[in-house]
Amino acid sequence: MSIDNAFNQTDKERCWFCNEDWHVAVFDLFDARKLQMDWCCEGARDDMIQAMEDSRHDMYQRKHFAQWFYNDTGLKARSMCIDQSGEWIVDYGLTIRQISQPIAKGFIQKKHAFGSTPAGWKWGLSAWNGNDMVGVAWCGRPVGRYTDRLKRIEVSRLAVDRQSPTSLTWNACSQLYGAAARRAKNEGYHTIQTYITEEEEGTSLRAVGWTFDGMTKGGSRAGQKSRIRRDVAPTCPKKRYVKKLNTPVLPQITFTEELLK
Ligand SMILES: [Zn+2]
Repeated sequence: MSIDNAFNQTDKERCWFCNEDWHVAVFDLFDARKLQMDWCCEGARDDMIQAMEDSRHDMYQRKHFAQWFYNDTGLKARSMCIDQSGEWIVDYGLTIRQISQPIAKGFIQKKHAFGSTPAGWKWGLSAWNGNDMVGVAWCGRPVGRYTDRLKRIEVSRLAVDRQSPTSLTWNACSQLYGAAARRAKNEGYHTIQTYITEEEEGTSLRAVGWTFDGMTKGGSRAGQKSRIRRDVAPTCPKKRYVKKLNTPVLPQITFTEELLK
């Protein structure tokens, strides 16, 4: 049975594995996300799992899946997958919403590796998969001392729920960075920036048009004499990524006779 007709079955075909009628269906949906599936055989089940994997990087396959799932359940979904406990669950795809500071803070404290929240806050965005919040972007004034705070905004924390199955958070980083840049652009910022650690690839940033803009030196903030503070984040060198949003309007200089004297 080819992967294509795992989703795109139009008439009764023989299953390649069990030689019965090919049968893959959603039998039941409960707790908003859990699925009870119905297969003609294990072979059909494995074929479906493979098709799900492949559809991650194949828009055409995803469309077939969405249509098949909608016909079967009346629901819109991006994919489905097997969670840690071996149960089939629906991946509804992501929606991005605004989020309040206390809720963003709560999420980051629970889900982010550092657990702390940065000082500046302008606004935040959250990524939802169905009824589950799976990611948060904390946006504020740039942390660096010498950046132009009026024209520049920073995604100073980005947290994704590492506990939730990876397929539910798939593409969440890119969508959060993308949505943050769109909002910042609407608000008239010239540039949006963020820092990632040396080990991070920056793939999700480049996917939405951000570019590498150099390394920071790193070093401990606690060593500065002017302020007493704990190091709350790693102080190793970091990569800065930026996205240019609005072209700065340069002031017009008129050469009056006064100036030319
Ligand atoms: Zn079969």
